[in-house]
Amino acid sequence: MPTIVLLSGGMDSTVCLYWAVENCPSPIHALSFDYGQRAVRELEGAKKVWERLLTSPLRKVLRMGEHTIAKLDRVFVSSSSILGDSDVQTYDSPEAAIKGTKTDQSFIPLRNAVLLSLAAHHLLARHPDGGTVVTGIRGRVDPINPGFPDCTHKFASAMGYALTVGHKYPVNVIDPLNIYAPTRSKTIQLARKLGPECFEALALTTSCYQGYSPPCGKCLPCTRRAQAFADVGVADPALRG
Ligand SMILES: [Zn+2]
Repeated sequence: MPTIVLLSGGMDSTVCLYWAVENCPSPIHALSFDYGQRAVRELEGAKKVWERLLTSPLRKVLRMGEHTIAKLDRVFVSSSSILGDSDVQTYDSPEAAIKGTKTDQSFIPLRNAVLLSLAAHHLLARHPDGGTVVTGIRGRVDPINPGFPDCTHKFASAMGYALTVGHKYPVNVIDPLNIYAPTRSKTIQLARKLGPECFEALALTTSCYQGYSPPCGKCLPCTRRAQAFADVGVADPALRG
């Protein structure tokens, strides 16, 4: 039963890729989408994360699959800050970000319904007998954002059910962060638990709304990332000189 991991090139999906390598059946595929998101560097990070994984010692014990970057030209019509059509709010500190907004500019209605369906399609096109889709969604429990409904464990389970009903064989949707790492700090701790290969791969990741790598430290995802590393008490490997 094969596995496909949605790999954006951000920290969350990178941890999920390494989690899948440890916990899911092989072959392990990865899928990234180019849908006009502002963070083109994120996609470059996804390529680097995959290449790094292929050359890691973990490869010896696994039958790795393929990494695909699928182009979805302007498939989303939202004005989300993830896309290139709106201004990015910046903050001087994580505290200012927490005080400055109660809404996340990145919301795209039902984005994960679309991306999970496409991931299942890519998996089943190669392996019609079914398999597992791993996604790094997290039903936000932090005070900044009360939650995107299509990031919850309930939604992931419902998508697994719908995809299985829509196909002849089972499609499991697993959301490890909702289960094992429901905050960014816990995601960093999970990366450390998965080992140095995983933690060091975080140096290649970014989710910066301004498209910077290393992280700019000023936009919402970068301030959240900085706060999470500070909470854990470790340095962000992406910020090493
Ligand atoms: Zn940024």
